[in-house]
Amino acid sequence: MREQIFTFGQYLHRKFGAKVSKVPVSISGFTCPNIDGTVAKGGCTFCENDSFSPSLDRARELKGFFLNLQSTQNPHLDKQIQQLEWQFDALSKRLREENSAQKFMVYFQSFTNTYAPFETLKALYDKALSFDNVIGLSIGTRSDSISDETFEYLYELSQKTEIWVEFGIQSIYDKTLERINRGHNSANVKETIIKAKSYGLNVCGHLIFGLPGESKEMMLETAKAAYGLGIDSVKYHPLYVVKRTALANEYARGEFEPISEELYVDVLKEALLLKPSNVSVQRVSAGIDDETLIAPSWCRDKNTQLRVINDALCSVGLKY
Ligand code: SF4
Repeated sequence: MREQIFTFGQYLHRKFGAKVSKVPVSISGFTCPNIDGTVAKGGCTFCENDSFSPSLDRARELKGFFLNLQSTQNPHLDKQIQQLEWQFDALSKRLREENSAQKFMVYFQSFTNTYAPFETLKALYDKALSFDNVIGLSIGTRSDSISDETFEYLYELSQKTEIWVEFGIQSIYDKTLERINRGHNSANVKETIIKAKSYGLNVCGHLIFGLPGESKEMMLETAKAAYGLGIDSVKYHPLYVVKRTALANEYARGEFEPISEELYVDVLKEALLLKPSNVSVQRVSAGIDDETLIAPSWCRDKNTQLRVINDALCSVGLKY
């Protein structure tokens, strides 16, 4: 009998007695200190962003408008709130019809969603929590971009609703973080996750397997360190190369070799075996089925990946 890996969907279903879906939203005006020059320029080498590809900014609804922690005013807050409403309405309707979703968690996904003045964050979070059937928020951010004021407000919200913060851990090795131009070191990630836990917040950690220069042992050390920090949920990703990124140039110059499917699945299997049973899993694969993917091609088909992953997990008595 194979043991089912504890998924985030199961966690939410147990807690709320209904099918809960995350509704990803992307709000204009949010950027990242690793893109706007505050800690670095260009962003992580794998990130497709405006500074690397200025045409992306020209395509934005509020082109050239970016907030940061020091912004003293936000002339476009109404517009941002409208965007949030439109996106939530459209996506929640689709999730209700296609996935039988009954309740929703608003997921602030793109860029760094605590990197804006507190009043803006508060207005957006409050608005998201006011939508029908919303049970809480999940906020994607960086460990160097969340103020104490925001932590305190999230703590306050967490007393009455479900609050998650998602941090990109990626690797615990500083030389890897430097190589991918992450703009913060691993001590900063540890410190911030410990702080988030001290505020009683739920934390999801993102890990990337296949970062440049990393061995299988290093990837597993990162997974162990992340579990050791007390994360409550995890997303595992393979590193893939997309167009219009610094990594695409490295790949073209022969300086980066993507992880093979065999190695990724092997590392993932061991990382899952090491995972404490209370840590839920939100993602184990990539699914980038569009023309932006350069390599590796096995990242294109999510269904095949899941089949291969499940075959490997079968050998150790697990299923996803
Ligand atoms: S932290 Fe996220 S948004 Fe910022 S550059 Fe890296 S991947 Fe892109």
